[in-house]
Formats: sequence, C-alpha cells, structure tokens
Amino acid sequence: MNVIHTIEALRAIILENKQKGKRIGLVPTMGYLHEGHLKLASQARTENDVVIMSIFVNPTQFGPNEDFESYPRDLQRDTKLATSVGVDVIFAPSVEEMYPHDGGISILAGHQATLLCGASRLGHFDGVLQVVAKLFNLIQPDISYFGQKDAQQVAIIQTMVRDYNFPVELRIVPVVREEDGLAKSSRNVYLSETERSQAPAIQQALQLAKRELMKSGNVEKSIQLAEKIIEENVEGRIDYLTLLSYPDLAEVTTETDQVLLAVAVYIGKTRLIDNLIFSFKGEHAHV
Ligand code: AMP
Repeated sequence: MNVIHTIEALRAIILENKQKGKRIGLVPTMGYLHEGHLKLASQARTENDVVIMSIFVNPTQFGPNEDFESYPRDLQRDTKLATSVGVDVIFAPSVEEMYPHDGGISILAGHQATLLCGASRLGHFDGVLQVVAKLFNLIQPDISYFGQKDAQQVAIIQTMVRDYNFPVELRIVPVVREEDGLAKSSRNVYLSETERSQAPAIQQALQLAKRELMKSGNVEKSIQLAEKIIEENVEGRIDYLTLLSYPDLAEVTTETDQVLLAVAVYIGKTRLIDNLIFSFKGEHAHV
C-alpha cells in the first residue's frame, strides 16, 4: 500500500501505470471508511489492475454551518481497512494541495442540484463536481466507483461526465446497510444510543412507501405513510421525502421508468439520507 499526499507523487504513479497500459479504478471518498466504501473498493479490485482510493474531506462541498471541522477523520485506520480489500494507492491530499489558488473557475451543477439535498445544501453539488472533476483529471481512471447511497450525487456526476465528455465509466454500487437496515454512513458515529435505535425507521418507512406505491399507485398516500412512520419513530425532522424519476430527477410521468424514493432526516444534529431506486410507471400513479 502506497499512501501519498501530493499531486506530484500521484502524477508519477499515474504516468507509470498508463505507460504500462494498466487499467485504473478510482474510489473517491471522504474517509472514515466503513463497509460501504469497502464494497466500492472490492468491486474496483475485481475490475482493474490498479485501485486508487482518494481520501479527502472536501471543504467546498460543506456549507458554512455544516460539519466540515468535526467530520470524522482517521487515516491510519482507513489505511488498514483499504489494504484489507486490496487498494493499491491512497491519495490523501491536504486542502492546500487540492486548492492552492483562490477564486478561479467553478463548475455549476444544473437543475438536478436544485432539489432534494441541493435545496437545503446550497452549493454542495458544485463542490462535489469541483473535486470529482479534479480527481478525474489527475487520476484519469478507466472506471470510477460511486455508491447509490448518494443517488442524487451519482445522477449529477453522470450529467457532468456526459456534458463535459470525461473519458471515464461510472459504476454504481448498491447501498450497504447495517443488519437492522440503516444505511452505513461515516456520520452514523454522531448518533446517540437512542438516536441510533430510532434510525432504522427511515429505511422501514421507505420500504413501506414502496410497497404501498406498487399496490395502490397512490404517490401522495405512499409518501404520507412513510412520513408518519418516521414522525412516530424518530425524534427529528424530515428535510424531504420525495419520489422523482431517476436519474433525471423530474416529476414522475407516464414516460417514467426508474424512480428514486429519497429521504433526508435530521436526527438531533445529524442529517441522514437514504433512498430506494425501483421501476415504477407514472401511468400507475393516482395522485
Ligand atoms: P463519502 O466518504 O461519504 O463521500 O462516500 C464515498 C463513496 O462511498 C460515495 O460514492 C458514497 O456514495 C459511497 N458510500 C457511502 N456510504 C455507502 C453505503 N452505505 N453503501 C454504498 N456506498 C456508500
């Protein structure tokens, strides 16, 4: 395992491997690894010659009142875990290394970033695109791996890759969950014991809404059902609970095939997200 912190060292590794015709897989993360991240890395291991994981808590995707400072970090622990699934290189730059210049060129996410998480986290997806574009340019991966846990992020990155012709394939890895259904997240460590015991209700609510939707086709009723489950079981606040077409994130119509049922909930100070993606035709909907 090679842990590097500079762009210069990264470029040397990329050049060497490209010259040898090696296939490069990239797993971008903010670290504090859990089994979700490791699933991405394991899949990358099976499909590439070289697996590079970036570990970078990217300040430009955090709002002023968000948890950039307190976001959990432990590079030593991450290095052990990444080694265990066969990651070859960890790229863990400092903020100064990634962003040595003020101002400059920004990438703006489009309409897909105006709703769901984008509505309450203004500028978040612009920051995500900024760092992902830089990583794509630096690492030139053949394949990059992302989790369905952040379904909106994936949809927006797909649009950037399409619109800016990044020569990279994207792989979407299903959500890895705890035994009780809670989506694994680095932020789960913020939860108190009580909050942790309440959190699985988020996934249960989505499952129930999906079942209702498939049965009755009634979008409004299904959403209300899920909201009720969360309100009754979680001491917190629902930020959104929404059904949209996926990946375009538009209203569900008769043309719709895949839908995204997505939720964000504040439990105490922790904001948790989760989703389901499934096939649902708008023609079945009675709203
Ligand atoms: P993060 O470190 O939270 O930015 O996540 C890095 C990558 O891991 C993103 O592509 C996430 O979608 C993915 N990821 C995070 N949690 C999970 C999970 N529970 N299951 C699958 N992928 C995940």
